[in-house]
Amino acid sequence: MQVVMEFLEHNDFVHESRANASINELEDLFFAHPKSLEIWRALPHVVLMDATYNTNRYKLPLLEIVGVTPTNMTFCIAFVYMHKEKKPNYTWALDCLKSLMDGCMLPRVIIIDRELALMNAYNSVFPNAKGLLCRWHINNCIMKKCRSSWCIIYPLWKKLVESTTEETYNITLAELEQQLAGYPGALLYLNTVWLRPYKEMFVSIWTDKFLNFGNHTTNKVESQHAKTKRYLDTAQLDIAKSVKRINEVVNTQYIAIRTSIGNDLISTRHRFTLDKELRTHFRNLCHSVSIYALEIIFKEYERSKYVRPIVDNCGCHVRACYGLPCAHEQAIFLNNARSLPLESVDKFWKKLNLSPCTPLTDDCTPLTDDNITYEVLQKKIDEKLKSQSRFGNQNIISPSTTSVGEPSVQKNTRGRPSLKNTIFRKTKIDLNQNPQAEDPPNQDPPSQNPRRSSISTYTPDCVRSNSFDLNQEPDRHSSCFNHRQPIYY
Ligand SMILES: [Zn+2]
Repeated sequence: MQVVMEFLEHNDFVHESRANASINELEDLFFAHPKSLEIWRALPHVVLMDATYNTNRYKLPLLEIVGVTPTNMTFCIAFVYMHKEKKPNYTWALDCLKSLMDGCMLPRVIIIDRELALMNAYNSVFPNAKGLLCRWHINNCIMKKCRSSWCIIYPLWKKLVESTTEETYNITLAELEQQLAGYPGALLYLNTVWLRPYKEMFVSIWTDKFLNFGNHTTNKVESQHAKTKRYLDTAQLDIAKSVKRINEVVNTQYIAIRTSIGNDLISTRHRFTLDKELRTHFRNLCHSVSIYALEIIFKEYERSKYVRPIVDNCGCHVRACYGLPCAHEQAIFLNNARSLPLESVDKFWKKLNLSPCTPLTDDCTPLTDDNITYEVLQKKIDEKLKSQSRFGNQNIISPSTTSVGEPSVQKNTRGRPSLKNTIFRKTKIDLNQNPQAEDPPNQDPPSQNPRRSSISTYTPDCVRSNSFDLNQEPDRHSSCFNHRQPIYY
C-alpha cells in the first residue's frame, strides 16, 4: 500500500482509508483527484452514485461518485473501494465526500439505484438533498422479476412512471391492475416493492415537483463505469495500477469539461439570434447560460406560441424540474418585448467557470439589472474563492509510508461478488422492504468522522450471525434478486 499512498500524495489526491487492525489489510479507500475536486466544488448540484464490480483482483466493489456539468457532461468526483456495501461503509465514504465541501454548496439532487444501505447513508449525510431512484434500474429489476408478464407491464408501467397528474396516475394504475389480474404475484411485487414505499422517488408527479435538472436515471454513472473500465482494461489490476489509470481518466475528463464550459462562454447558436425577437429574447442569456440549457429554453420558446401566458396551458415542467423559464413565463416576456432576465435561470446552468460554488443562501440579493448584477455576483464568488481556498495550497497530512497491506487477492473477479454460499440462506423474498431499515447492530465498524488523507483502523466483530434479514440488503443492478432463490411472476 505504500506505493498507492505515495502515488496519491505525489499527485495531490485527497484520500482516506481504513484498515482492518487484526490482519493489517486495507478495507476501504476513498480518493479524489484534485481536478475532480475543483469541478465538484464548482458544480456540486447533482450527484449520481453507483458501484461497479470486476475492476480489481481483490473483488472490492468500486463506488463511483459522479457529477453533472451545466453543459450536460459527466465528471468523476471520487472513487471508493469498499470491502462491504453496508451503511457504515457508505456513510464513511459520504462523510469523506462531504468534508471536501467546507463552505461550498452541498448537493441538491442525489440519484441512486435502490441500494438501501446507500439510501440510508445519504439521508443521514446529506439530509437536505432530494433523493431520486434510478428508473432504469427499477425497470431492470421488474423485467427480471416479472418475466412472463413483462410485455403487459412495460407500456403501462412506463406511462405510470411518467404520470404528471394524480388523475393519470390513478387511471393508469387501475388499468395496470386490471391487465395483471391473472398475475397477482406481479401486482403484489409492483405495489409492495416499488409503488407503495418509493413512488415519490421515481414517479413524475412527485419527482417533477423538485429540481432534478433532467436526471432520472444513473445512466450517466453507468457510462462512466464503462469509460473507467476501458482504462482499467483488466479485472486483475492491483490498487496501485488501478489508481494510476483512474488518474488518467480524470486528467482527460478535466480537459474536456474545461473545453465544453469555455466553448459555451464564447459561442452561441445561430437560431438564438435569428431575428430581432429572438435576439431580444435571449440577449441576457447567451454566453451566460450553458448552450444545453439554452436549447431547452428554446424548445419552451417555441411552445410559448400556443401555450401563451396562461399557466394552466403550460404545466411548468421545465420551471419545476430544470429551473429554467417555462413556456408561459416566456410568453409574458415576449408579449412585453422584454428580454428574459438572467435570474429566471437556476444558478446551476449559469456556472460557466470552475470557481467554488457558494451556498444558495448567499445568492438571495434581489437582482435588478441582469448583466451588472451578474458581474457583482461573480466578484462576490471570486472573493469567496480567495477566502475559502483549501485545496490549492493545502498541506496533506498523511504518512508517506505505511505498513498497511493490500487486501487479499480473490480468485474469481468476474461480476458482482457472489453472495451464494455465504450468509444469504433465505429462500423467500420479504416484500415489505423498509428503506429506513438499519444494518444489524455490531456487525460493522462504526462510522468515523473522516480525517483527510489518513489511514484508520478498527477491529471488526469476528462473530457473524448466520441469519440475515433480507429487508436490510436490497438488490442492485442487473443482479436484482439473483442472489436469492428466485420467485418469478
Ligand atoms: Zn409555466
